[in-house]
Amino acid sequence: MAAKILDGKAIAQKVRDEVREGVARFAAAHGRPPGLEVVLVGEDPASVTHTRSKERVSNEVGIRGRLRALPAGTTEAELLALIAELNADDAVDGILVQLPLPEHLREHAVLDAIAPAKDVDGLHPVNAGLLALGRPGGLAPCTPVGCMRLLAEAGVELAGARAVVVGRSHLVGRPMAQLLLAQHATVAIAHSRTRDLRAICREADVLVAAAGKAKLIGGDWIKEGATVIDVGMNRDDAGKLVGDVDFEAARERAAWITPVPGGVGPMTIASLLEATLRAAEARVAKQRP
Ligand code: NAP
Repeated sequence: MAAKILDGKAIAQKVRDEVREGVARFAAAHGRPPGLEVVLVGEDPASVTHTRSKERVSNEVGIRGRLRALPAGTTEAELLALIAELNADDAVDGILVQLPLPEHLREHAVLDAIAPAKDVDGLHPVNAGLLALGRPGGLAPCTPVGCMRLLAEAGVELAGARAVVVGRSHLVGRPMAQLLLAQHATVAIAHSRTRDLRAICREADVLVAAAGKAKLIGGDWIKEGATVIDVGMNRDDAGKLVGDVDFEAARERAAWITPVPGGVGPMTIASLLEATLRAAEARVAKQRP
């Protein structure tokens, strides 16, 4: 039987509607909307597109979203000075620095400079640490948070389920595994050195593919009745956007599957908006006497 499609577009719309309501309540209570600053260094075409849509969509839900586009030659000192300014600005609740940065800028130095309370992409060591320790109150990376929402919307039982995450990046794989663990799944993390990836994937009740390799995961790697979340965004030989999973073959075995495009992608920005609202609420709650 063909899998049910986990429709990221529709679920992202639902998240945006929830955020719009929350933003209106926040603005009415505090006299200002939540503020999100998106920082872009350079003119990488994909990054320009991503940051513009983050600015546009945040404004559509009532967040004051602003894109700070800096020239490719911006020095680390200049970038750190801007981050310090945004950290100190009370009207700014969220700061997102678009990755990848140009090579002359050290990613960790820049990410570490963002105030953890404003780190809406959850990449500061404080937030990554809270997630790893299973402690509440931190901010987690937007893409895995979006994947968790997809799983929740599908009603997938995670407690006791075998979950396999393919990929161990700080942006997707690792935080995804931590979020699944927090929901009591039994989690394996696979990566480029993993032996017999196929056998490991075949055990997964929940399979999250985040390797960035077109159609790495074949249909016969999927356990019957599994839930498949495909984070990968790759171009095939014809230039078409494809995931890490062979969708047509996998959908014959899975119970739920995300399409590419229209699965995880739309959830990432929706989760960023949600994180900005949460960060704003947490900051004002902390400022209350
Ligand atoms: P990344 O930093 O390149 O990490 C890729 C991970 O996959 C690494 O841990 C790597 O292992 C592992 N890997 C690579 N080839 C593998 C193989 N053949 N078998 C098993 N593991 C393999 O990428 P990322 O930032 O996590 O992104 C992953 C994918 O998700 C990309 O396609 C990206 O475009 C997409 N993405 C989509 C969204 C969205 O909103 N939809 C957001 C973020 C990323 P090693 O650690 O051993 O090198």
